[in-house]
Amino acid sequence: MNKELSLKFHNSYAKLPESFYSRETPEQVANPHLLKINPELAEELGFSAENYSEDYLAEVFSGNKLLTGSEPLAQAYAGHQFGGLSPQLGDGRAVLLGEVVTPAGINIDLQLKGSGRTAFSRRGDGKATLYSVLREYLISEAMHALNIPTTRSLAVVASGESIMREGSVPAGVLTRTATSHIRVGTFQYFAIRGELEYVKTLADYTINKHFPEIKNEDNPYLALVTAVMDKQIALITEWMRVGFIHGVMNTDNMAISGETIDFGPCAFMDNFDPQAKYSSIDTGGRYAFANQASIGLWNLARFAETLIHLIDDDEETAISLLTEELEKYSEKFAIMYSQCMLKKIGLSSMQDGRVANDFLDILHKNEIDFTLAFRALTKMFGTDFSDDDLKALCKNSEVYENWKTHWISLLEQDESPKQERLQAMQEANPIYIPRNWYVEEALKTAALEKDFTIFEEMLTVLKKPYTKNETLHKYATTPHPSTEDYQTFCGT
Ligand code: AMP
Ligand code: MG
Repeated sequence: MNKELSLKFHNSYAKLPESFYSRETPEQVANPHLLKINPELAEELGFSAENYSEDYLAEVFSGNKLLTGSEPLAQAYAGHQFGGLSPQLGDGRAVLLGEVVTPAGINIDLQLKGSGRTAFSRRGDGKATLYSVLREYLISEAMHALNIPTTRSLAVVASGESIMREGSVPAGVLTRTATSHIRVGTFQYFAIRGELEYVKTLADYTINKHFPEIKNEDNPYLALVTAVMDKQIALITEWMRVGFIHGVMNTDNMAISGETIDFGPCAFMDNFDPQAKYSSIDTGGRYAFANQASIGLWNLARFAETLIHLIDDDEETAISLLTEELEKYSEKFAIMYSQCMLKKIGLSSMQDGRVANDFLDILHKNEIDFTLAFRALTKMFGTDFSDDDLKALCKNSEVYENWKTHWISLLEQDESPKQERLQAMQEANPIYIPRNWYVEEALKTAALEKDFTIFEEMLTVLKKPYTKNETLHKYATTPHPSTEDYQTFCGT
């Protein structure tokens, strides 16, 4: 067994000006115990988890032991939270250990979450509940397997400590990876403080790291807005493809890279409802399912505002250039979203702009499960319509029968090969999503009773969400459709 884990670090963020972060050492924890290590992700980062003892990995991924080359720091950022500006947030319970150069030559952030107080902790304890850490592990890995850009989870360590939330609960540390942790709120942090030269430093750093192809554009900062916008449109469309509700799309939780970040009060919806929301703190439904598209634009407008001085010397010109760019959002979104919906119903081109929406209307009115419904359509298409699992679920079957007849006629008129469309449909419509009811069961049993049976079974099916698992197929449905009463909490 190897003793020391050696990763290749190239810490570019640590070379930025001191105002960008606070150098921190993760707090020592009392009794770290490795609960999860992600062997596939470990390989991507350049190590084989099985070569190290669990005790050693627990020391490393709790923050007790720093790897050679790590330069831990907490990043500064601001953010609009539920529309209100918080000028100073920052990593209050996270520490960036450094950037690992993978064998594939990609720079990946390695971050501990729940590793104790930092300069940005304000009144918080810098810790995370084991429950929330396991939740992020499960859901981020599910997102990744659904082929949706996301931060990933490398390890979960139970710290052996209890923390006070609503009562005393076990604490945990998550190790997560991302192509970077730069957020809209990182730009806002410097813009709000009037540190415009740092906005430029950050914009240049971001372009270099994430969008090198725009470096030589006439106006690279305007191109940055476009590039970030395109990534967000693609991301939010993907969320909507699988019924995902992020739940807390504050500007500090929007990553410039276009990866899903911060799995706080997020959830996948069961029955289709455009206004579905699960977060206990989102009382107004600001971040409800169908609002995510417009919130994306709202956040991008906050991003664009930070770059005004870089776009043009004349403020008015800059604002009009940015406005013109942002005005393209709605149409771009509509195109991408309708392409996604077409795939979900097996069509290759828009012969009828309403057909997908009409189907969603039927689901909404009849309280039908989003994931099951689209999978049922996929099965119908694949069996020449001999199977129709939806029929029984549609209480107003006349409306459904009319829709189905129309849908079948559109499928038959579509000239692109059926096999290709069926495959696209299978890739757009997962069989398994992290079902709320099972997520709760998995976390309760794992975090409180140390029984990982459901957690591991869920991970198994969620790693292959488009392939039927004969033995674990129960995870495709929910014993308790929870649209109305399921509530998620920030769980900090
Ligand atoms: P989040 O809701 O996780 O996006 O966090 C919003 C802000 O609150 C971030 O600046 C976090 O670092 C900070 N925060 C959340 N939980 C804690 C905690 N337990 N201790 C210190 N800061 C926290
Ligand atoms: Mg956050």
